[in-house]
Amino acid sequence: MKVDYIIVGLGLAGLAFCEELLSANKTFMVYEDDSQTSSLVAGGVYNPVILKRFTPVWNAAKQLEKALPFYKKLEKKLSIKIDEKFITKKVFKSIEDQNNWFAALDKPKLTQYLDEELDKSEYSGVLADFNFGNVKETGRIDTKKLVDSYRSFLKEKSIIYFEKFEHKKISFEGKFINYKDFKTSKIVFCEGFGIKQNPFFNHLPLNEAKGELITIHAPELNINFLLKSTLFVLPLGNNLYKVGATFNWKDKTSNPSEEGKEELITKLKKVINVPYKIVDQTAGIRPTVKDRRPLIGIHSKYSQLCILNGLGTRGVMIAPTVAKQLFNHLEHDVELDSETDIKRFD
Ligand SMILES: Cc1cc2nc3c(=O)[nH]c(=O)nc-3n(C[C@H](O)[C@H](O)[C@H](O)COP(=O)(O)OP(=O)(O)OC[C@H]3O[C@@H](n4cnc5c(N)ncnc54)[C@H](O)[C@@H]3O)c2cc1C
Repeated sequence: MKVDYIIVGLGLAGLAFCEELLSANKTFMVYEDDSQTSSLVAGGVYNPVILKRFTPVWNAAKQLEKALPFYKKLEKKLSIKIDEKFITKKVFKSIEDQNNWFAALDKPKLTQYLDEELDKSEYSGVLADFNFGNVKETGRIDTKKLVDSYRSFLKEKSIIYFEKFEHKKISFEGKFINYKDFKTSKIVFCEGFGIKQNPFFNHLPLNEAKGELITIHAPELNINFLLKSTLFVLPLGNNLYKVGATFNWKDKTSNPSEEGKEELITKLKKVINVPYKIVDQTAGIRPTVKDRRPLIGIHSKYSQLCILNGLGTRGVMIAPTVAKQLFNHLEHDVELDSETDIKRFD
């Protein structure tokens, strides 16, 4: 059977690329083997400001401009609610921290997002000696709900196989590729950290940044904003909160660990002082690139093979933009941004 594209991996990257294909009436088949969990466990937060350093996220405004309508459209198409908007409250740790906030207010790319007034309120159960700074235009995409629904949507159309894509079964025939019963002119690999098993692209500098999260039930914590300190506390409703996330650069598994849980508990003690119960723990590997830019483009030898990866810690904001860029490059010859093109690693 002939299809225009094969997509390998249905996380945020694969999903965003499928949307491009559908809107252009292209035919495709998706392979998904559940080997990676990043898009399923992600906090899903979008925030245009890096609160550790008070700097803007790379291309944040442009990415949000594309991402928010993208998720809104998917809410409608899949009949789900996935975008929860809220204020993020940065917990200041010192006077110096507050001063850095005031300095950041003058940065042109940040003014629209940061509240000038400090929030001096007290929130029961929240530990904050130096007040809060409010970040506007932040929120959360329920990425698990989105990915699960999207997979069901593709399943209904019979265009997804829940099996491992085996790279060694590719054969090249002129400008086409044969894979099992399919003939296609392009394969787009959206494998996240699974790229390490891809013989065509595993030379690219993708690092593992394992992250773990816990979900807690805390009936006495009554907040409806995202609390950001050394970790985030994200309200899910029904007294449930997602707490995370850790960074581990050595562990290459997606398994939740005791070590990850202990780290989160220790940090959480400094942020809230109400009783809670841990009701869930999840882990995944963020596909992070050494220069913190996505990996998109075409293989230097096999022009039928393409990649959409390297979404790092901000897949929610970046995925719709880079999927469009790759699509426009492949279909309309629009040049890729040199910052994201994999040619930078040739
Ligand atoms: C703990 C944690 C918290 C996070 N929090 C946030 C956050 O708050 N906000 C945010 O924007 N981002 C967050 N992220 C990052 C975000 O999850 C990633 O940027 C994004 O999900 C990456 O999407 P992806 O599609 O590139 O990769 P993945 O989600 O890893 O998807 C790749 C898919 O490819 C499949 N696959 C791989 N190899 C094969 C194969 N050979 N055959 C078939 N299928 C294959 C995998 O099973 C997987 O489903 C977080 C990540 C983690 C781990």
